[in-house]
Amino acid sequence: MMIIMQANATPQQVEHVIEHIKAAGLAVHLSQGLEATIIGAIGETHNLPMEQFEGLDGVDIVQRITQPYKLASRQFHPEDSLIPVDGFHVGGDEIAIIAGPCSVESRSQIIETAIAVKEAGASALRGGVFKPRTSPYSFQGLGEEGLEYLAEARAQTGLPIVAEIMSQVQVDLMVKYVDVLQVGARNMQNFNLLRVIGETRTAVLLKRGMSATVEELLMSAEYILAGGNARVMLCERGIRTFETSTRNTTDINAIPVLKKLTHLPVILDPSHATGHVDYVAAIARAAIAAGADGLIIEVHPDPAHAVSDGKQSLRPEAFAAMVKQVGQIAQIMGRKLAAAEAYQPLKQGWA
Ligand code: PEP
Ligand code: MN
Repeated sequence: MMIIMQANATPQQVEHVIEHIKAAGLAVHLSQGLEATIIGAIGETHNLPMEQFEGLDGVDIVQRITQPYKLASRQFHPEDSLIPVDGFHVGGDEIAIIAGPCSVESRSQIIETAIAVKEAGASALRGGVFKPRTSPYSFQGLGEEGLEYLAEARAQTGLPIVAEIMSQVQVDLMVKYVDVLQVGARNMQNFNLLRVIGETRTAVLLKRGMSATVEELLMSAEYILAGGNARVMLCERGIRTFETSTRNTTDINAIPVLKKLTHLPVILDPSHATGHVDYVAAIARAAIAAGADGLIIEVHPDPAHAVSDGKQSLRPEAFAAMVKQVGQIAQIMGRKLAAAEAYQPLKQGWA
């Protein structure tokens, strides 16, 4: 249930409504936007009469949120959420470009790649140190050693770091090093992990499971939001279909669908969605034209020798060419590529 306060409601009136919600055994989520204060009453609200709140001083409108995801819904938060990442915001006019190798392989590999993607216009650096590999015999990632290299790459380039977390036991370590916790497709419904991430205040890139519906993705986002971490970005990374000519099938539809259903930013990963270097730039362009708020792209200085996902990794030169094209499409869409220099701390409605 959503309680929209009158524009001139006093802090005491807001507090009084909050006390009523708590007395009904519900969780409170306060959203203080520029236009109005919205108080979310989250929990089993279907038996609760709306009149109970409508009569309280300072209350303007009481509305039920019809979707099963509440905090993630646009009904609850009509404006786009802006997610602060060190250096820029995701979800506004700016398009975020996260780039880097599938896996951190060595100090020189990640630093070389970081410098190259920064020069090409990336706004953040990706690199996996805990890798969810199909085979237990494949490279599993460098772990903390890889995080040390990422930290060095960050210090040299200023690029914030995006890296995948696979288990809740890695949370304390990961939040020390990374700016954005990536939850991979295989963990989208690892609810214990989502709950622990919900307790942090580190930004999250939540990837869609390869067989998950849009609604399931939003329900997973809800786990993180319900824990109090509002810094959630969603990522479409292709879904499994009958088609075998590409690794996955990019669900371009999911971009406008998500933009309609949720206020959370939507990022597209054309690398995993297509699985092939020849298709990455085309789908990256399509994503921005479809309204995505950013891209996550695999880039490797020597794709032929990459320990993971070489086939879908762009060389830095190809990445730079792609960034130029994406920048032009962004302009047509009335947007621009995120520039870390332009970062201004911004007061978030609810964070
Ligand atoms: C990755 O980003 O390297 C990755 C493993 O992605 P996904 O979880 O989408 O498969
Ligand atoms: Mn990968």
